[in-house]
Amino acid sequence: MTSIEQEINALRDELNRHNHNYYVLNSPTITDMEFDLKLKQLQKLEEENPQFFDANSPTQRVGSDINLDFEQVEHDTPMLSLGNTYNEQEINDFWTRTMRQLNEPFEICCELKFDGTAISLKYEHGELVRAVTRGDGRKGDDVTRNVRTIKSIPLRLSGNYPDSLEMRGEIIMPHAGFEQINRQREDIGEQPFANPRNAAAGSLKLQNSRMVAQRPLDCILYYVLCDELPSDRHANNLEAARAWGFKISPHFKVCRSQAEIMDFIHHWATEREHLPYDIDGIVFKVNSLSQQKRMGLTAKNPRWAISYKFKAEQAHSPLIRIDYQVGRTGAVTPVANVEPVQLAGTIVRRASLHNADIIASLDLHDNDTVVIEKGGEIIPKIVAVDIDKRPAGSTPVVFPTHCPECGAKLVREEGEAAFYCPNSAGCRPQITGKLIHFVSRKAMNIDSIGEETIEALYKNGLVSDIPDLYSLTVEKLLPLDRMARKSALNIVQGIRASLDVPFERVLFALGIRFVGETTAKTLASAFETIEHLAEASVEQLMAAEDIGSKTAQSVFDYLHSPDNITRIDRLKLCGLKFAKEKTETVSDHLNGMTFVISGTFEHHSRDEIKALIERHGGKMVSSISAKTSYLIAGDNMGPSKREKAEKLGIRMINEEETLKLIGQSE
Ligand SMILES: [Zn+2]
Repeated sequence: MTSIEQEINALRDELNRHNHNYYVLNSPTITDMEFDLKLKQLQKLEEENPQFFDANSPTQRVGSDINLDFEQVEHDTPMLSLGNTYNEQEINDFWTRTMRQLNEPFEICCELKFDGTAISLKYEHGELVRAVTRGDGRKGDDVTRNVRTIKSIPLRLSGNYPDSLEMRGEIIMPHAGFEQINRQREDIGEQPFANPRNAAAGSLKLQNSRMVAQRPLDCILYYVLCDELPSDRHANNLEAARAWGFKISPHFKVCRSQAEIMDFIHHWATEREHLPYDIDGIVFKVNSLSQQKRMGLTAKNPRWAISYKFKAEQAHSPLIRIDYQVGRTGAVTPVANVEPVQLAGTIVRRASLHNADIIASLDLHDNDTVVIEKGGEIIPKIVAVDIDKRPAGSTPVVFPTHCPECGAKLVREEGEAAFYCPNSAGCRPQITGKLIHFVSRKAMNIDSIGEETIEALYKNGLVSDIPDLYSLTVEKLLPLDRMARKSALNIVQGIRASLDVPFERVLFALGIRFVGETTAKTLASAFETIEHLAEASVEQLMAAEDIGSKTAQSVFDYLHSPDNITRIDRLKLCGLKFAKEKTETVSDHLNGMTFVISGTFEHHSRDEIKALIERHGGKMVSSISAKTSYLIAGDNMGPSKREKAEKLGIRMINEEETLKLIGQSE
């Protein structure tokens, strides 16, 4: 083993340990910054030495841009669903049935029922080899690459683990992450997820694992399958699995009486409000595996387990008024104000109505008493109307036809649930919303300007469009209320510093609909300059990885609107970056060689391979000629490229050979 390889392996082990401390044990021993530095160091070593690539390296948790077509995989042992009930009496019946069937003492392991999407994880020799969704119970989708990006799932086990095992559990999205992701989605004009369960399931099925890596997913495991388990007791096996590195809920309890079981149900019926994620019930399993075996299965469910589901908590309250909020993209969102009412431990004053269709389907009238339910969302939602309490003569709620902020006539595009105010250049919340997005941390990161400052700048006529920010001076700012010279100086300096922000973030900061951080990155690396991007047709935009027709059309429309063209021209004059910077080279091993790439690859996206080649001095070209040194050939390569390469006698190499070529020449 070379010293570089040893260094890489040591870093991987160390980072795996820190990941486990952070995501599973919740007790990090180093700062985030130290972690990031080590990760960057490993990334750099791996880039410079691609021959040591490993799919289970901690760097792979960032995902890749490869498109996945999920392969269907059969489960070794079917993933059966549990029988379930909303009725406490049926849990007592389950106890009685178990007692009769076993006719000997037994224990019941009570566990929280996590509200996410079920997953099966297979490990061989301590390495994660496969992750499969429940699917229909017999067959599921192979989502291994996406699952690798979930940081609480160990890629390598530690301690005294069995050589081969399967873990089952639930992939969930905790509340904090769910709120954040919905804010981001609303921010770029995407429909928010209805609840954390949908968000988790949807994220797991994304085609692009790099996007999955950005979703705040977590995974809690609750069942161990293996030929040589450490114990006959399920609960002890969970403890063992915790020691191997899995995230196991600390809230399971072994009960020996019906009274204990009922206490567990009643405790969590209220206590669940304080959990950072959703649970929708309690699962009861016979604790002894040999007893489980004796009890066996029915056609659909195991006889040795049952789940109790909580009824969603609801409250009734009179509707006071509906606010119509206008967002940055112009979308108009109705929010109901209700008489304050107690629901699941909090006082509810506002409830979500989502859109005009929901209002219509509820047949909501003025002064109605509404039924409010709380899911994972911070803002509860209205699920029904209490018709019996409807006052005589009340009229149906009508969605406004005009913008409540600027009076423009609202429009609704085909296939969209939301109404939009089209007056983007003259509607206050849209203008200030765009400015707030522009200066935000993930965009231009001008942290000396907050929301209040934006509102003040707009109100005082100093800024009415993004480019106006760049003509602000300390003198212009000083007359503003409560503006000290020092803050004015900070603002001007912050704006000046934003001139160094790279193209991809400038593109994101513009606030083009459907263009989030990832999409902006893709567009910036595929088109390199704003000019190339503006020249591209919708079809050409769609040719970039993961750009759908909706996004492509939105980018095309944005870059062809006269207002936006003027805005971008002004920003160019201010000195913002509208072109991608050249990649820095780490070696010149490939100097003088030209490469053509085609098809898809197992471990890297085309963009990643291109970047690798360029970093080592090679040149990427788009078409094959007699001068081409190598054709990097992946799966589904175009037949014409292959033919041409064969005719000209160009050497074809695969992904592994490419990595070797970079590595060997070192
Ligand atoms: Zn408006």
